[in-house]
Amino acid sequence: MVKETKIYLMSDLDDKDKSSEIAKLIQSGKLVVFPTETVYGLGGNALDPNASKAIYSAKGRPSDNPLIVHIADKNDVFQYVKSVPLEAKRLMDAFWPGPITFILEKNDLIPYTTTGGLKTVALRMPNHEAALKLIKQSNRPIAAPSANISGKPSSTAFKHVFDDFNGRVDAIIDGGDTTIGLESTVIDMTSAPTILRPGAITKSMIERVLNQKVLDLSNQLPTGEVRSPGMKYTHYKPKGNVTLINGLESHVKNYIRDFEITHHNKKVAIICPSEYEDLFHGFRLRLLGSIHDSALMSKNIFKALRDMDDWQMDEIFIYYKESDELGYAMMNRLLKAAGYHVLEL
Ligand code: AMP
Ligand code: MG
Repeated sequence: MVKETKIYLMSDLDDKDKSSEIAKLIQSGKLVVFPTETVYGLGGNALDPNASKAIYSAKGRPSDNPLIVHIADKNDVFQYVKSVPLEAKRLMDAFWPGPITFILEKNDLIPYTTTGGLKTVALRMPNHEAALKLIKQSNRPIAAPSANISGKPSSTAFKHVFDDFNGRVDAIIDGGDTTIGLESTVIDMTSAPTILRPGAITKSMIERVLNQKVLDLSNQLPTGEVRSPGMKYTHYKPKGNVTLINGLESHVKNYIRDFEITHHNKKVAIICPSEYEDLFHGFRLRLLGSIHDSALMSKNIFKALRDMDDWQMDEIFIYYKESDELGYAMMNRLLKAAGYHVLEL
């Protein structure tokens, strides 16, 4: 069903009439795509089961893959959970507002549709003025998964959300490019702290605050029972085949050149750090930024993956090796984009 999608600017949240128009959309169960510091979110009233259903449906998301609930005040967390363990409280004080999501035991206010049937709820306070204003002005917690059609790369630019959701949601707030570009770190605090998805708040940052080791299950392969339902679904995939390629520079270059010769009807691209521009001279390249700047590469990675569809690429090789914790978080997304297809040369 095609609906009219209103486009707003972030400054509209400072306009009395427009901001109350947007708030009313959330309050009446409608969907509003909005920017955060990580990626864009596809938002609806987290307390309204019908709004959550509409989110799953607009996104094409399996309904057992739970949504993150966004709040605008740290203390609001107490309204939606049975209890907040001391360690969770310390991490919230250290990192909120910011790119980290906590899994806690939900109370009855949060409907099961929002949590994909789980007894736990994911909560985050984003560090983004427009997101915080939207939540405050609508006076509701906002359930928002990443604003991408299920399976596609997350959205880090207005163009991405417009391509995916124009005609499918009630409004989009244009916030330009997002600053971090990777989704939040997800940490389960219902038992021993366990990272379920790595992000810009890294394991060592968390361990420093807690002064204890934390577990990391984020690279658990998507088989058997998984703690975070999102882990078992295809993610971030462009239409073309994606391969992560590893090995000596000369071997990688020869491999891709031979591949182009034997598959001359296929459009091939390489995604890599900018330092490899000369190495891959003559190939179709999508550069991510300097290998020494993981923050910049992370910010660019979803855009690069989406460009592969715009360029109509059939085969995509990613030549990248992580060198720090943020690189590790980025590699977590790349492995999924490649369906864990890694070629060691
Ligand atoms: P997205 O909304 O696209 O950023 O994805 C949210 C991620 O958080 C998914 O991988 C979910 O599986 C995970 N998540 C959300 N709620 C829970 C929960 N209650 N327990 C475990 N993982 C969760
Ligand atoms: Mg997502």
